[in-house]
Amino acid sequence: MKRKMILLALLVSIMITGAFVMNKCSIAKKISVSVLNPKDDTQNDWRLILVNDSHAVPMNYQFELTRLSNGICVDSRIYPDLQQMFDDARSSGIYPVVGEGYRTHEEQQNMMQNKIDSFISEGYSEKDAEKLAQDWVAEPGKSEHELGLALDINADTSLSSDEEVYSWLAENAYKYGFILRYPQSCEYITGIDYEPWHYRYVGIEAALEIYTKQITLEEYLCG
Ligand SMILES: [Zn+2]
Repeated sequence: MKRKMILLALLVSIMITGAFVMNKCSIAKKISVSVLNPKDDTQNDWRLILVNDSHAVPMNYQFELTRLSNGICVDSRIYPDLQQMFDDARSSGIYPVVGEGYRTHEEQQNMMQNKIDSFISEGYSEKDAEKLAQDWVAEPGKSEHELGLALDINADTSLSSDEEVYSWLAENAYKYGFILRYPQSCEYITGIDYEPWHYRYVGIEAALEIYTKQITLEEYLCG
């Protein structure tokens, strides 16, 4: 009998956890991503500029770049928080590296063209190759990497595993103003599959709210 009670309690707790996970992103579940528009006042803040399938990088968007020691560039304004986050990760025995940062429009265009070419070489028609490539690569002008505020962070694999880095970031990045931009099971809002390595700078205040409420940037800006 006692065993049954324990099992029942376990089942209930799993159901509660499950419901919580299912609830994630449910705010916008009935809204299609194309009609989610950020409140105008939010878009005057460089940290909160929304870039996704339906929102392109603003015309003539300009900012200063800082080059990291491995040659990758980021918006200079996020550098101090990024450096602090990496210092703190390392002192906890976690060794992240920035694999991708700022990407020019031309680099994004080349990425897209390479992907299209690779599908064509597999035998797809040009039209189908273009369609398929869009599932993998953001359209030029619609990649957050062109903002200089998005980073792909992986592990220095001689010292940490990717999983260790992703889980440290998932728990700590918000303290430094970064959010997991494409969370699991929120693809219908963000338009992008789960990417445990892609972090976006939004500033500490917004990151705390997004982390605490377990929502996406779209929901934070448009909700
Ligand atoms: Zn990325």
